[in-house]
Amino acid sequence: TLRSVGKVKMTFLKQDGVLYLPFLDLAENSLLNKLIRKSLVESNYQVEVLQRDPSSPLFSVKSFEELRLKKELLEGIYEMGFNRPSKIQETALPMILADPPQNLIAQSQSGTGKTAAFVLAMLSRVNGAEKFPQCLCLAPTYELAVQTGKVVEKMGKRCVNIRVTYAVRGNRIPRGTKIEEQIIIGTPGTVLDWCFKLKLLDLKKISVFVLDEADVMIDTQGFLDQSVRIQRTLPQDCQMLLFSATFEDAVLRFAEQIILDPIIIKLRREEMTLTNIRQYYFLCENIQDKYKALCNIYGSITVGQAIIFCQTRRNAKWLSQELILDGHEVSILSGELTVEQRAAIIQRFREGKEKVLVTTNVCARGIDVEQVTIVVNFKLPTNQLHCPDFETYLHRIGRTGRFGKKGLAFNMVERHNLPLLRRIEEHFSEYSIPIKPALHV
Ligand code: ADP
Repeated sequence: TLRSVGKVKMTFLKQDGVLYLPFLDLAENSLLNKLIRKSLVESNYQVEVLQRDPSSPLFSVKSFEELRLKKELLEGIYEMGFNRPSKIQETALPMILADPPQNLIAQSQSGTGKTAAFVLAMLSRVNGAEKFPQCLCLAPTYELAVQTGKVVEKMGKRCVNIRVTYAVRGNRIPRGTKIEEQIIIGTPGTVLDWCFKLKLLDLKKISVFVLDEADVMIDTQGFLDQSVRIQRTLPQDCQMLLFSATFEDAVLRFAEQIILDPIIIKLRREEMTLTNIRQYYFLCENIQDKYKALCNIYGSITVGQAIIFCQTRRNAKWLSQELILDGHEVSILSGELTVEQRAAIIQRFREGKEKVLVTTNVCARGIDVEQVTIVVNFKLPTNQLHCPDFETYLHRIGRTGRFGKKGLAFNMVERHNLPLLRRIEEHFSEYSIPIKPALHV
């Protein structure tokens, strides 16, 4: 079950925190994104095609009809509510579906339609009449594999003969069993076991290989090697597709090692800016004083929704209790919650069910600040060396794109932390206005 896999991971974490922590973090973050994403993330940028055979013209599609898909598949797509391909899909789909098959590396931020694109590819290439595995998709964790599997099931709802199974720890299948499902989604280690130890899977018969979340994968040395081993066993004419939500060089180097003669496509992420944000600070003596300053905000302006960032879980608890006593509807995001619980809270907040969200830094990813009227830093974000954490500051209060609505940010600052505030101000001085003092009565 989901829960027991989670527990296994926690044991790893305790044994070898340094090695596994960043990986878990990335994988959880990605899962959280998937759980809360209900629609496409649009981009103002154009898709860049970094390498391709100059003799083959680049073309893109504006509709799913142009792709000449099987009728059942097209119906599945429309039933999911997709009217037209997303930006990355416009370019990726014709390449992915071309004959002969093309290998592809695609980078674009989460929510831009990558999963839907490769699921579509798998479903369109698979032969439902043949009862053996034909498509293999690697994912970093069981939970992420399941999310992809759900998309296969939804999109392939009308493709009656096509089925999915999961090559993940916990799914025990006796050695030598004949697997009839055409699409296998799994984690690298278990996939290797299925191939070599248990002889469940014949990689030579795979015609589409997908490596999803490559950036999360490469964070674990073992996965990198295992993925390479799997890829090396695949037949020459197997189509290979690799996806990543980030753009680091390391990902691209890994990708090019795994994917032969790829076309590389990229959709740049919208930059965060502070141009539209009015920033203020309250000079405060202590935590009670910070709370008074917060009440001041509520007393003087109309606040739609607010996110309040605290440094510690304890502070977050204390603050939300105070706010509740004062009659606010508050929800609190904290580290002890499971990813699913966090996703549910973020969703409720997005739907406007609560007006105030109190959170610590680790939990706040995935929250879309565009709809929030004010962001409060109950404490300025700092790193372990007690230097300002500019990146986090930007992510908490910044907005994306030219169309980001105006925002309002308040910083609660103790006198001895004023230099931190000044450094933040200086850091962003090129594209932000000064952080002004707010009246504190
Ligand atoms: P990624 O894999 O890049 O994170 P997904 O494929 O999961 O992106 O898509 C993000 C969200 O957008 C999902 O809720 C998905 O159902 C939806 N989506 C994907 N493609 C389309 C499309 N062409 N039209 C409308 N919604 C789409």
